[in-house]
Amino acid sequence: MNAFADKHPLRSGIPCVKHNCVQCCLETSMPLTTRDITRIMKLGYERTDFTIPSNGGGWRLKNVSGRCVFLSERGCRIYQYRPEGCRLYPLIYDEGVHRAVIDHLCPYGCEFKAGKAEIKKLMNLLERLATGAR
Ligand code: SF4
Repeated sequence: MNAFADKHPLRSGIPCVKHNCVQCCLETSMPLTTRDITRIMKLGYERTDFTIPSNGGGWRLKNVSGRCVFLSERGCRIYQYRPEGCRLYPLIYDEGVHRAVIDHLCPYGCEFKAGKAEIKKLMNLLERLATGAR
């Protein structure tokens, strides 16, 4: 039996919809790449509408009343244009074990599957965020 048969690709968002979960959109600290900011600004938003400075430099998504500024009652307002990190979540890099893992904070993480392509995308994203080549 294939252990991945009943799991869903990260980008599908199927477990999120199935469980009506928006947990990762609450008190978000999702970092933003330059590409993310440019893509979202093309929708008509000002940078200050959705970004705040990150402690380590760069920018991250803004929260309003503890929720991602783009989270509405019907879900993400910019789903098709959402940040790269949101597309890859719940895949994160665990500094403790030095590898990409499914975040244990995602309550339905066991329903997602991540392949080599997603891990490569995550590592590329982290490299761009770390070097400032965002
Ligand atoms: S916490 Fe997990 S299941 Fe919930 S919305 Fe985020 S990725 Fe989806």
